[in-house]
Amino acid sequence: MENRTATDVLVVGAGLAGLAAARDLTRAGYSVRILEKSRGVAGRAATKRLASGGLADYGAPFFTIRNENLRSFIQPLERKGLVHVWQYGMKHWNAGTIEGSLDGYARYVAKDGMTTLGKVLRDGEPDEQPLEIVQSALVSAVWSNHFGYRAVLENGDIHTARAVLVNTPAPQALALTRSILELQTYLALERVKFAPCLALIIALKTKPDVSWNALRLDHPVLSWMGFEHSKRYDLPPVLVVHANPTWSQAHLEQNQQTIIKPLLEAAQDVLGVQLEVLETIPHRWRFAQVVTPHQSHFIAQENLFFCGDWCAPQGNARIETAFESGWAAASAITKQLEQPLDVILTHA
Ligand SMILES: Cc1cc2nc3c(=O)[nH]c(=O)nc-3n(C[C@H](O)[C@H](O)[C@H](O)COP(=O)(O)OP(=O)(O)OC[C@H]3O[C@@H](n4cnc5c(N)ncnc54)[C@H](O)[C@@H]3O)c2cc1C
Repeated sequence: MENRTATDVLVVGAGLAGLAAARDLTRAGYSVRILEKSRGVAGRAATKRLASGGLADYGAPFFTIRNENLRSFIQPLERKGLVHVWQYGMKHWNAGTIEGSLDGYARYVAKDGMTTLGKVLRDGEPDEQPLEIVQSALVSAVWSNHFGYRAVLENGDIHTARAVLVNTPAPQALALTRSILELQTYLALERVKFAPCLALIIALKTKPDVSWNALRLDHPVLSWMGFEHSKRYDLPPVLVVHANPTWSQAHLEQNQQTIIKPLLEAAQDVLGVQLEVLETIPHRWRFAQVVTPHQSHFIAQENLFFCGDWCAPQGNARIETAFESGWAAASAITKQLEQPLDVILTHA
């Protein structure tokens, strides 16, 4: 059992909210360690490189910008060509009819995939150190005592810190911290609800002849289909489809291989063509999109904090909400840690 050196803040989860918070806390002078269960960063802003050479965003396909802090973060990335506007508005499919939605918002994508947003936060500016991230670190519980907090990993490793920021979806955060939660915090986490999403990445031999990049759908099986190569025309064709929440919930526990056929058939049904398929990769998002969000940007219980897209006071949980939540949590943690140690210990 390894017991690593204590750090000021442990962040559980290298999603965009956790990374945004970690970068701000590091800039404020605190030592920060991120514990991430996977081997990558950016969580649901996920990208996969395929055997065909194609690239697929199989979580969030794009993001929007409605707040100035996020605009300031994205503008330099846009100037460097890492991020660009994919399209304005979104086409909508209903019973075979396609209509354009004129909501006017730019849909942004990253040339090398949505994980770019996480990698930029991880790496920082040229004069900054990369964030400290422990990969393949599945946290199984968070504990506290008079001296601070401990995160216990599935492999038995223990990490200690003055404060912990949990950046997982609320149901997972609740499971990790249940034993140290006050009733109010427990109820706040318990109220947050997510819907699942079953996704399928389809590497294609040829580009289908369609006039649109992506569709939102009112379909018995699908809620989304998007041609990933329309974000990066130099790469081979890839289609990503998302099953709607009802279908995803009904098929959530099935062997993932069994969802390939119905999702592929549904895609062909919408497109009206037989696809020439090279490779299919299914993915199960158990906590994909927030149905009932928490009504403020973060949750705090002494030096235990929670952030994520599900902290969405405006109601719409998405990438921009994740950033806002991470930044707000970092600011609150900074204020809390500025207190002298004896004040914190008195309240422990
Ligand atoms: C299918 C799908 C479609 C979407 N479409 C859009 C869209 O069009 N536009 C948009 O803006 N947003 C969209 N989203 C939502 C968007 O992806 C999220 O809002 C955002 O990425 C959430 O970031 P986060 O940091 O809050 O959480 P997450 O990305 O969920 O990060 C949580 C991190 O915690 C890690 N973790 C979990 N448990 C543990 C543990 N026990 N120990 C260690 N690490 C752990 C996870 O591996 C993950 O890296 C979509 C999401 C999905 C899944």
